[in-house]
Amino acid sequence: MKFIVTGSGGCVCTPKPLCQCPVCVEARTKGFPYARCGCGLYLEDIALLVDTPEDIAAALNNAGIKAVSSVLYSHWDPDHTMGMRIFEQLRLEWLDFYKGIKPQNPVTVYAQPGIMEDLSGLRSKFGPLMDYYERVMKLIERRTVEREIELDGIKITFVSVPGDKAVTVFVFESKGKKLVYAPCDCRPFPDEPVLHNADILVMGDTFIGDVLKDGNIIDEDHPLRKELHSFSDALHIQKELSAKRLVITHIEEAWGKSVNDYKKMELEYDNVNFAYDGMVIQL
Ligand SMILES: [Zn+2]
Ligand SMILES: [Zn+2]
Repeated sequence: MKFIVTGSGGCVCTPKPLCQCPVCVEARTKGFPYARCGCGLYLEDIALLVDTPEDIAAALNNAGIKAVSSVLYSHWDPDHTMGMRIFEQLRLEWLDFYKGIKPQNPVTVYAQPGIMEDLSGLRSKFGPLMDYYERVMKLIERRTVEREIELDGIKITFVSVPGDKAVTVFVFESKGKKLVYAPCDCRPFPDEPVLHNADILVMGDTFIGDVLKDGNIIDEDHPLRKELHSFSDALHIQKELSAKRLVITHIEEAWGKSVNDYKKMELEYDNVNFAYDGMVIQL
């Protein structure tokens, strides 16, 4: 399986508009991989994309993606869905409309039932955007998935994160290899046998370091520790699940660290990498 990180950023992209902090100035000057688009992952073997953040069009162009057949949604949060207009950009040929040629080959959209329901809450004054893309424009086809699908020999298991909010952690398996993708809102982290013994655990929802942007100190009783996993929590989850390698994604500008800072951290830990836009993960 060949995965490409289309976006390694968090709910705020890097550079954050207007921000003049060193991380944003560097990202603005040097571009990718110092810049980070919203969080997304692509599986080239089956032209599958996970999530559509606002800047997904720029992310697809940067990552050199040439085809998208299907899209999985991990949850409805805006930083993972607000680029949904990409369906128009992927499949709508503007001038064909005047010739009466309908869009061909709709993108298949997969999500667990609660997430599909949440997605219908994203709407214009005419109704849910998903209804418009599917029924009016014929750009997508929705498929609700309870537990798993198989696409061209790649098995994808949809694991629900415990709690009230509908969130999915995805497990990709093919030819004895396994990648677990838990981009966001995965606290508490689910514990099911299928999540164990992955070759790679790609995990977001994690703040990196105890000192963040502008010297903000995250002490022991800081509320961020209740909302997100710390980096040491992520290492603990990697160990508990016996994942061979941990790749941290959904990296916020607010962590106040540059690509070079993360490269230095990689030297301190075995089997840990920090994602960047365009990163290839082959297994
Ligand atoms: Zn900044
Ligand atoms: Zn997120």
